Amino acid sequence: MTALTPPSAVKRVLLVVAMEQEVRPLVQRFGLEQIQPSPFLRGAPFVAWMGEVEGLVLHVVWCGRDPRFGNVNNVATTAASVCLYAAVAAFGAPDLCISAGTAGGLASSGARVGDVYLSSKCVFHSRRIPDAAGHLEEYGFGHYRSPPLGKLASHIGVKTGVVSTSDSLDAVPMDLELMRSEGTSIKEMEAAAVAWVCQTLSVPFVALKSVTDIVDGPRATREEFEANLEAASLVLQVKTDALLRAVAGTLLAQWANDGSRTAPAAPAAPAAPAAPAAPAARRATDGTTTTATNNSAPPPAAEAPRAIPTVVDSSSSSVAMSIGPDGQSFEVLRV
Ligand code: SAH
Repeated sequence: MTALTPPSAVKRVLLVVAMEQEVRPLVQRFGLEQIQPSPFLRGAPFVAWMGEVEGLVLHVVWCGRDPRFGNVNNVATTAASVCLYAAVAAFGAPDLCISAGTAGGLASSGARVGDVYLSSKCVFHSRRIPDAAGHLEEYGFGHYRSPPLGKLASHIGVKTGVVSTSDSLDAVPMDLELMRSEGTSIKEMEAAAVAWVCQTLSVPFVALKSVTDIVDGPRATREEFEANLEAASLVLQVKTDALLRAVAGTLLAQWANDGSRTAPAAPAAPAAPAAPAAPAARRATDGTTTTATNNSAPPPAAEAPRAIPTVVDSSSSSVAMSIGPDGQSFEVLRV
């Protein structure tokens, strides 16, 4: 028999990030210290930092680079899941794990470059494993639910939606069909893999993804991604900061309800556990909906925002970023 442990306030958070361009702004913003010597096995390319935000112990791990191929970032599912497992083994299970990074957005679900999404659920769209009973097929999709955090999404000004993962930057027609059938808003290359590890280890999980490119739009994905990577990583930095400050010391269950912009009061009595639920037995009965909610920025700062030199070109799907002198308020400029 398994003893039920009451949910605890969020005091330790682990962020897993695939690209150096995404992780650097986070390390800088939170003034994190690199953990040395490396806490990982010799040869593992992962890099870990630690710091404190609003009383939270924050660990950030980056999947590192692969010297065999021109020192590229270790993007995609294999590195992300091993990196996270190694981090939990090294630092212990956190109260919340976040797969943070950039992503493609589906315009058909209302996503725009510069939007940030919190996952309601993560699926794989490229693990197609038909079997007679349908169990392997559903295992392939995964259906890893995040705790319901609608109130948190409203509070920090991000959208919520289904995040769909594969090991490819592009999408073949079958990928798009499956993503649409899952109500996907966000396509990227790590979240569902990280979510699987978290579900296995009973760690509450959420993906926080900043949109660099539009999957079902006119521009070539790689070009659009590269044009917007820096600005989207800065938006991610701001929203990660807002999220961590909001959840610090609170119960995740307090952030479940939507429709309020008010932060919850101090942690209340234990409520329902917020750990990810088991995958639904059948996709058709899964019941997850895509909630395209507001993504409005916080109120403007009193002083003029400081322009961050960044993006890019004159097409309609590039973004530029400016952050106010308070470091919290910001503006996404679509240029
Ligand atoms: N040309 C890039 C490729 C990186 S892969 C480079 O120079 O490194 C893209 C990374 O951003 C992955 O970590 C993935 O999670 C995310 N991403 C952004 N847009 C994506 C999209 N449209 N499809 C899949 N992943 C995307």
